Amino acid sequence: MMSLRLSLLAAVLAFGACGYAAPAPQDDTGKVIETEILILGGGMTGVAAANSLYHDAGMRNILIVEARSVLGGRVQDSRIGNYTIEYGANWIQGLGNNPIWKMAQKYGVVNRYSNWESIDYFTKDGWEGDDGPLQHAVTRYEEEVFPAAAADAGRRKELGQPDLSMKAGLKLNGWNPLTPEERTAEFFAHDWEQAEPPIVSSFIGTAEAYNETFVESGNGTNNIVTDQVTGYKGVVLGHAAEIPNLNVMYNTVVTEIAYSATGVTVKTKTGLTIKAKKALCTFSLGVLQHDDVKFVPELPEWKREAIANFHMATYTKIFARFPTKFWNDTEFALYADPDERGFYAVWQTLDLPGFFPGSKILFATLTGEQAHHAEYQTDAEVQADYVQVLRDMYGAANVPEPIEFKFPRWNMDPLFRGTFTNWGAGVTVKQQEDMRVPVGGELDSEATLWFAGEHTSRKYFGYLHGAYWEGRLAASHIADCVLRQCVTGDITKKVRRQAVDFDAGDDAGAKKQRRRRMWT
Ligand SMILES: Cc1cc2nc3c(=O)[nH]c(=O)nc-3n(C[C@H](O)[C@H](O)[C@H](O)COP(=O)(O)OP(=O)(O)OC[C@H]3O[C@@H](n4cnc5c(N)ncnc54)[C@H](O)[C@@H]3O)c2cc1C
Repeated sequence: MMSLRLSLLAAVLAFGACGYAAPAPQDDTGKVIETEILILGGGMTGVAAANSLYHDAGMRNILIVEARSVLGGRVQDSRIGNYTIEYGANWIQGLGNNPIWKMAQKYGVVNRYSNWESIDYFTKDGWEGDDGPLQHAVTRYEEEVFPAAAADAGRRKELGQPDLSMKAGLKLNGWNPLTPEERTAEFFAHDWEQAEPPIVSSFIGTAEAYNETFVESGNGTNNIVTDQVTGYKGVVLGHAAEIPNLNVMYNTVVTEIAYSATGVTVKTKTGLTIKAKKALCTFSLGVLQHDDVKFVPELPEWKREAIANFHMATYTKIFARFPTKFWNDTEFALYADPDERGFYAVWQTLDLPGFFPGSKILFATLTGEQAHHAEYQTDAEVQADYVQVLRDMYGAANVPEPIEFKFPRWNMDPLFRGTFTNWGAGVTVKQQEDMRVPVGGELDSEATLWFAGEHTSRKYFGYLHGAYWEGRLAASHIADCVLRQCVTGDITKKVRRQAVDFDAGDDAGAKKQRRRRMWT
């Protein structure tokens, strides 16, 4: 384990946290760089694509361009007190065949079992005691309603029936939340995972996402990353460190992507021009939706429709460090606000044995519109709401003001514009697949600009393992195209078909499939 930790530290030095490459010069006008493969974005997708292009396809002329000074993208941490905390991805979900779980073990990224059943239940009047209405509602949703609804969604999919909203699917399975406790139970089970409410979420998409990660390829549990050396981004850094002489251009903001049948030309904020034979755009769906980057020519209508229709959600973790620990040793506390569904409903402590004992750190999660609202409020306004809810839960006299208080503003950040995607009600499978289909010239065989990210994952959208699989899949398509000079037939059809069947949970199986598709 020691040598793994040392190699991970070396990866940190090489790819982030400290020892960054020097910032790009301010004026690069007239300067032109050329590469064979250009990867736009240094998150999990971009690094997984680079790793696969290097090791599986034998390509060497690869350049990653990244706006930040560190790899990892939405796997991003911060500091509170003397502790590294995760602003972005935090859990390795489902475990089982999740490749991130294997990578965390391989690179020595510290994680531990997260007990989602260790919960204290509160209302405006404080602790509700054992077996109160909130606990009862959570149990009913999780043990009766969701399993029945998920099976129903599965049947609907098999029979080719139209999708519904999750709200409608739940209603048809006997769930009609009226009380603050029922609404909070629903928020905890649905919004806290999808970051949007059931009324705008797909019934089939929600059930399928749960099934693929937690049932098909997982064992149903989650580990939470508590690594204090690299944070969760250690998995991305470890994967990047496996690529000898990886060429990363940090602090480089892409402003324009021009594509044609013969290649891709990218312009950066500092006026630099980068030319490539093939490029892979891994920017988040939020970035694509907000026109932060200009495409020349404009992306085709079918692609713009797909980008506009899929959902970029927001999930905001709000951290505080207190002078005293006034809460219990359960991992979670749920709060049922009497008026506003989901208002500071989910709380977690990091001050636990095996986590950061003695840290006195709590965090709450807001999603959807409440997360957006907090981004527009001042820190002081958010803190006032946060502390007020805690005082309702634990008694005013017991809750002091925090010593430190901080949270990320993901939705306002032009490099992300949200946190992860949710399959919205009314999004078709074709639209989801269209997000991944490459563009270039008139003909399919002239594809030069490819797209990948967690949002293009048919089965694991929203998750880090989705980003990983999508990076590898895009690499296999690009390598196939380069090695065979795009003469293998209908690229668009192939990308779509693989959208459905590539995402094998087992790494070895996936590798075999990829080899077969690329070289036989
Ligand atoms: C708050 C939060 C909680 C999450 N929780 C979990 C979890 O517990 N478990 C889990 O599995 N997943 C979780 N996720 C999802 C997971 O983090 C993402 O699915 C994954 O990191 C996405 O990787 P990506 O490479 O597709 O995109 P990104 O990580 O967004 O990578 C894209 C890269 O492009 C760069 N970029 C953007 N615009 C430009 C530009 N104009 N020029 C140059 N570079 C640019 C960005 O800086 C970024 O590095 C969470 C995400 C968030 C934010």
